[in-house]
Amino acid sequence: CGIVGYIGEKKAAPILLSGLKKLEYRGYDSAGIAVQEKDYIKISKKNGKLNKLQKAVSQEIFKGVSGIGHTRWATHGKPSDINSHPHSSTQGEVVIVHNGIIENFRELKAELLKEGHQFKSATDTEVIAHLIASYYQANDLRTAVNKAVKRLEGSFALAVMSKKEKNRIIAVRKDSPLIVGLGEGQNFLASDIPAYLEYTDEFYILEDGEIADITKNEVNIYSFANQLIANKDKTKIDWD
Ligand code: GLU
Repeated sequence: CGIVGYIGEKKAAPILLSGLKKLEYRGYDSAGIAVQEKDYIKISKKNGKLNKLQKAVSQEIFKGVSGIGHTRWATHGKPSDINSHPHSSTQGEVVIVHNGIIENFRELKAELLKEGHQFKSATDTEVIAHLIASYYQANDLRTAVNKAVKRLEGSFALAVMSKKEKNRIIAVRKDSPLIVGLGEGQNFLASDIPAYLEYTDEFYILEDGEIADITKNEVNIYSFANQLIANKDKTKIDWD
């Protein structure tokens, strides 16, 4: 299973698909992408191999320059188009991909159903999208994600987008790997470095309990305690 993300000036969809291709070795049963379009986040997701997703994406128009992608290894909810990631909140304002397992999703789901959130899938993951949406205020996606992850038990690598904040991806790591690839006017996100080695040789390797706030020109890393981690080391891949 794997996660990718891109934010920059190029069309995101082909870059997301190429990253997912490089992560195929990790194993998966379904795949999907989400791209920021003009007024909404466009999602394409398919049960099965990546070529099914590639075909579906090629039959539609994806113009956006930021997005996230996922290969799924189902743990909760059978492999199907609907259970594939990305998952979104009731109105589609928050869209996420997740690797890992949310142990307390049943309790969270019961709470969110009471608040009127409408669920579409049988996954543990979907609660995360609704939980973030329930905390989302004043175009501050990072704060909403931070509040939500404090309530999650289990393992998670996450990438999150909001249709209201087009030029931003929030990523979180806890017990599931995630790296940020650093470019010029563009940045990348992936489960593993090989996904985007053809685009950059400089990376942040996220530690457990870190939240990355990613725009095309900037990457800031925060702790779950909401402290900026100013001295985060960059990893430079040396080809020699
Ligand atoms: N637990 C989630 C699901 O079954 C994520 C699985 C994964 O890591 O791909 O949808």
